[in-house]
Amino acid sequence: MALSILQQAAQYLKKALPLMLKYQIPTTPTNYALWYTYVSEQNTQLNGQLDAIVTQYQTCPPSAAEQLFREHIGSKQELNNRELRQSMEAMATELSQSIRDTSEGTTEFRAQLDKNFGKLNQLEQEATSLDQIMDMVRLLVKDSDEILSRTEFFQQQLGKAQQEITNLQQKLVEAEKDSMFDALTGCYNRRAFDLDFTALINDMPQGICIVMVDIDHFKRINDTYGHMLGDQVLKAVANRLKEGCRDGMKIYRFGGEEFAIILPSSKMQLARHQAESLRRSVEKVSVKDRRRNATIGNISASFGVAEWQPKDSLEQLVERADTQLYEAKRLGRNRVMPISG
Ligand code: GH3
Ligand code: MG
Ligand code: MG
Repeated sequence: MALSILQQAAQYLKKALPLMLKYQIPTTPTNYALWYTYVSEQNTQLNGQLDAIVTQYQTCPPSAAEQLFREHIGSKQELNNRELRQSMEAMATELSQSIRDTSEGTTEFRAQLDKNFGKLNQLEQEATSLDQIMDMVRLLVKDSDEILSRTEFFQQQLGKAQQEITNLQQKLVEAEKDSMFDALTGCYNRRAFDLDFTALINDMPQGICIVMVDIDHFKRINDTYGHMLGDQVLKAVANRLKEGCRDGMKIYRFGGEEFAIILPSSKMQLARHQAESLRRSVEKVSVKDRRRNATIGNISASFGVAEWQPKDSLEQLVERADTQLYEAKRLGRNRVMPISG
């Protein structure tokens, strides 16, 4: 009979977890995906490489795991959390079934013991030889020890596996959260932008506008003050933009020194007005360069605004806002485009 996807996933997981325990692999989503793929034997190249690493190190060091993951599975964001969660749920269901089976097994074993002890009593009453009785007792003790230790071991394994599952689930929740935010600025990231856009155009009768923001001459800031201070400026600008986002506006780091803002309104005039107020607030950003005892000021950004039209794809909308942004750059930067519209 063909296995259901869930049963299949549970089987892979059952194979993957003991291996991860054996080689002391931390249960990160990356490692989990790696070992899950390994036991599913879909990728012989990956399996060969992982085998070689484990033979050499008796474990798979994090850097090697990361590299294998990138090479064979994909970027972290492509990690299909939903599928992982589904397979863990399947595993959890399997485990609780196993526990039930085990305790039923134990009950059966008790009944068997009782019966044997009953027999023992009977033997005693029938005045069987002491040797015979001792043999019987020895046999019983041996049986019970074996079954009990087997059960205990199994329970221990189950306990461990369940702990692993809880850890994995927690990590997945965190990974899912992390995958929506940009680590440097704390803004939502490009992935969140794509997801939000799709959700919004589906249930936003009032429409949306987007604003693309690009810091002016940012390369010059990096070149003059260094990359670390460049990062500080980027963070300071992001914070200022975040503070200025009101009325349901949301800001995303689109890439490098570029941000995108979604406004839950189709009114271009309002969007331009909001962008103008953000532009003025960015002008006031300054960052201290403690080593040189100087202040980095004169920071500015250019803004391009576009309104979503029905049937617009995200790419088309972004392209229109980008065109306006380039126009703002061309006209001398530190401005919002279009001027009207
Ligand atoms: P323009 O006004 O035309 O936008 O000029 P610009 O210098 O801002 O634009 P350009 O695209 O030439 O340079 C952007 C620079 O931003 C180059 C890149 O090294 C830098 N950058 C991108 N991401 C980061 C980052 O996370 N941290 C730092 N410090 N710099 C970054
Ligand atoms: Mg740029
Ligand atoms: Mg720039």
